[in-house]
Amino acid sequence: MSTSLHTIQQQESALLIHTYDRVPVLFERGEGVSLFDSEGREYIDFLSGIGVNALGHGHPAIRAAIAAQTERLIHVSNLFFHEYQAPLAARLAVASGLERAFFCNSGTEAWECALKLARARYHRASDGKRKPRLLMMKNSFHGRTLGSLATTGNPAYRTPFAPMLPGVTFVRFNDVAELEAKFDSSVCAIGMETIQGEGGVYPASREFLEAARELTRNSGALLMLDEIQCGLGRTGKMFAYQHHGIQPDIVTVAKPLAAGLPLGAVLAREDVAASFHPGMHGSTFGGGPLACAVAVAFLDEVSRPGFLEHVSTVGTYFADRLLHLKTRHRSIREVRAVGLMLAVELKSSALAKSVVTKMMERGFIINRTHDVVLRFLPPYIVQARHIDAMVDALDEVLAGGHANA
Ligand code: PLP
Repeated sequence: MSTSLHTIQQQESALLIHTYDRVPVLFERGEGVSLFDSEGREYIDFLSGIGVNALGHGHPAIRAAIAAQTERLIHVSNLFFHEYQAPLAARLAVASGLERAFFCNSGTEAWECALKLARARYHRASDGKRKPRLLMMKNSFHGRTLGSLATTGNPAYRTPFAPMLPGVTFVRFNDVAELEAKFDSSVCAIGMETIQGEGGVYPASREFLEAARELTRNSGALLMLDEIQCGLGRTGKMFAYQHHGIQPDIVTVAKPLAAGLPLGAVLAREDVAASFHPGMHGSTFGGGPLACAVAVAFLDEVSRPGFLEHVSTVGTYFADRLLHLKTRHRSIREVRAVGLMLAVELKSSALAKSVVTKMMERGFIINRTHDVVLRFLPPYIVQARHIDAMVDALDEVLAGGHANA
């Protein structure tokens, strides 16, 4: 352990509010799919800062956009115009089929805005006389602010902060009968992640998405999809719902949008967006010129011919290799994958924890979520050779795990 890491650990432990149990590694530099620590050790990044560094580290187009924009203008506030919100919104509208955008700074802020839009629309329709309900999913994750927490279907995140926002009903994810049973005219929106991320990489089934679309379309309620983790190219399509041919009314995005700078967005249908008027929502930092200029550069890269095909092709290759691994290790319960969002569910939490540590020792960054799930969110630029190296290492680590078990 380098002295500087040790010093930083001591300082942080004395100075920071203790919200993170960090891995004792100090990263100093990144290049492509690699990160380098303070001792010069290389790690292949299969987590991308939890889905953020989708173009890897130090991508030339992102560096150029940051350099050019910081020379000109970093912040002006939303009291004034700048050049980049409109072109960014235009690209997102073409990609999503949703005409309007609001920009904020994070995933949870995007989801908060979506919740406010749904409530505002219902209030307007009912003249404020009826109380709206939100139908949300068990095992979901939408962020750490109180509105997002109230709609996050995992008691562990919510309980310490009770009481929660009223008017939220949870439904078992992918249970069409329960969704239909809990739906009525008091529901202003059905909300879900198109692929549950923190919950362990569980895709919504087509049947479930179609049922949610049907119920909401017929009643005038909204279908809101959280694509903060699975959207913007991660699954090989710009949005994960596009695998199913359904069109939501609201979509939230964030993580990779500005390739490492904080930026979130809510995309909404024209008539849904009309529920807000000036003064009802806003953000000091959201959608500033620097983040928006970088997001334009990010979307232009992802939209290049063949880019998303690469994500699909390497994603399929990765999934096949993991499925083969499952035939070799009884400790693997299930493999789940859509594009470059993949999971290996193990049978034991202790094993999952030790696998992550041992993979780190071998120079591969992976993550454990939902206790027993190894999660892989590599940069979109990952190649088959990186996947081979990582899966071979995982194979050896799991073989060691058996021996120790
Ligand atoms: N929604 C989903 C699906 C997420 O995966 C996350 C973060 O992991 C969030 C919302 C919250 O995003 P943020 O941490 O940027 O607030």
